Amino acid sequence: MASITSSTAPTRQHRRKPNILITGTPGTGKTSTASLACETVGLNHIDCSKLVVEKKLYLEKNEEFDTFIIDDDALCDELEEVMNAGGNICDSHSIDYFPERWFDLVLVLRTNNTVLYDRLAKRGYTTKKLTENIECEIMQVLLEEAREFYDLNIVHEVSSNNIDDLESNVERISAWLAAWKPAGEVAAAGTAGTAGQ
Ligand code: ADP
Repeated sequence: MASITSSTAPTRQHRRKPNILITGTPGTGKTSTASLACETVGLNHIDCSKLVVEKKLYLEKNEEFDTFIIDDDALCDELEEVMNAGGNICDSHSIDYFPERWFDLVLVLRTNNTVLYDRLAKRGYTTKKLTENIECEIMQVLLEEAREFYDLNIVHEVSSNNIDDLESNVERISAWLAAWKPAGEVAAAGTAGTAGQ
């Protein structure tokens, strides 16, 4: 179980480095973007789908869709320490169980239907799985979830159709990271700025 209570849970104030969440429908480029971004800016890449399989953090396998039903609590327990330390880019297509306090920036990748169809077909997805994922993208399920679970100020929808998009998203992460300050320093700077007014 994700057992840390809200009164004892570390907050953003405790982190010296930020955490970034990259989400989107399968095939939108989460792993490619997170991987290149981590290589470029030196953060730690956490590929949640891979981690779930490697550490067996699932409840069962959905044979029809050839996917694993994630054990949310086990995954959060596995990630708690590393996320509290900061310095991670986490890529995941399901996000509703992560503590909101973990992330400082949330990027939702969006891919147009024909491009996404080709990428998923190349993966050998069944028609049913392919249709389900294209519908998920059309209905912008992950974008709505991100907007529901995270502060709107930190949620950004970005295109991920081609290599130019990939590079510009990595540049964007790099620029954001260069400007990021720990929450405590921002608060202190804000106080200093208003002192004596
Ligand atoms: P996800 O992690 O969202 O499932 P991947 O990163 O595995 O997606 O990418 C799926 C496929 O699409 C891979 O073959 C990858 O090379 C390709 N791809 C991902 N992002 C882009 C992009 N911006 N431009 C072109 N191809 C991309």
